Amino acid sequence: MDTLINQLPCPILITDATGHILMTNTNLLQLVGGIAEQWKNKCLEDLLPPPSRIFLQTHIWPILYHETLVKEIHMQLYDSQKERVPVLVNCQRILRNGQESYFWVFFVAYERSQFEAELLKARSEAQQMSENLAQANAQLNILHKQLSLYTKEIEVENRELSEISQTDPLTGLANRRALEMTVADWQFQSKVATCASVLLIDADHFKRVNDEYGHNEGDRVLVELARQLQASIRLSDLVVRYGGEEFIIWLPSVDRTGAEFTAQRVHKHIRQVQVAGKPITVSIGVATSVNTLDPELLQELITHADKAVYQAKGEGRNRTIHFE
Ligand code: GH3
Ligand code: MG
Ligand code: MG
Repeated sequence: MDTLINQLPCPILITDATGHILMTNTNLLQLVGGIAEQWKNKCLEDLLPPPSRIFLQTHIWPILYHETLVKEIHMQLYDSQKERVPVLVNCQRILRNGQESYFWVFFVAYERSQFEAELLKARSEAQQMSENLAQANAQLNILHKQLSLYTKEIEVENRELSEISQTDPLTGLANRRALEMTVADWQFQSKVATCASVLLIDADHFKRVNDEYGHNEGDRVLVELARQLQASIRLSDLVVRYGGEEFIIWLPSVDRTGAEFTAQRVHKHIRQVQVAGKPITVSIGVATSVNTLDPELLQELITHADKAVYQAKGEGRNRTIHFE
């Protein structure tokens, strides 16, 4: 039997129950070096690096004593150059020459352990990558939140700026810019031609208010005029401070009759604005157009309304004239 074992193409050892070597085969000697006589009565442990030695004592021998067989145990052997060789070990308790012995078969597992090492490396790299990815994702989320906060702030600031740029600071009314945008929007949205009117309202003898009662009183009167004009219109109309003591009321889809009706309401409301107990009056020029899709609509209405105001001033003020 020993001759046969010698010919087997894998390293084989036979030890006694204390690990003393009873036999080595040729293949084992080729791996670990030396000749058979040299190894006789040495210990299996002499072939093992420290971790495998400890493993043998604490794990393999206890199993062998109880179960007589171990299979596919990973260990390392020293080769002839004292390099560590990864091996898979099977061991079986046998009776040899009437003596309890242990038959150790080793399978050199260079490729398998290299493959396992590569697998472990790939797994740890994948783990690292997924951690990096999670970290990058978390940072991206934070950036995303910051960005949407900034975007909201910018939107609010833009809205505020746009409101400021379209508001008259003294009266809080819309200004010329707002008027131009409102009319353009209305023209864009009204697909069919209807009609539109404008009232140009100019305070009468306003210079006197300033001259006699001071500029602050003039400002108060302007604010009060704005309030009363605002009270004279529908929701769809727009009151604008056009400049100085001149105001415009934009009346979309309002014809001549409707515009004159609004003008009368304005005169009535304005009577409530007083300086030193005397009511302020205004002159109103009215213009109406049916060319509502004309790009020059607003400019034309204002020019006509201005002419009508001029006429109203000439005819004694405190009245409304419709441009003919
Ligand atoms: P008319 O009846 O012909 O319109 O006479 P008027 O005095 O109202 O017209 P004029 O254009 O001669 O004077 C307008 C005055 O409005 C002159 C200016 O001092 C005053 N004014 C313009 N803007 C303001 C303002 O913001 N505050 C004050 N207090 N006065 C203003
Ligand atoms: Mg004026
Ligand atoms: Mg005036």
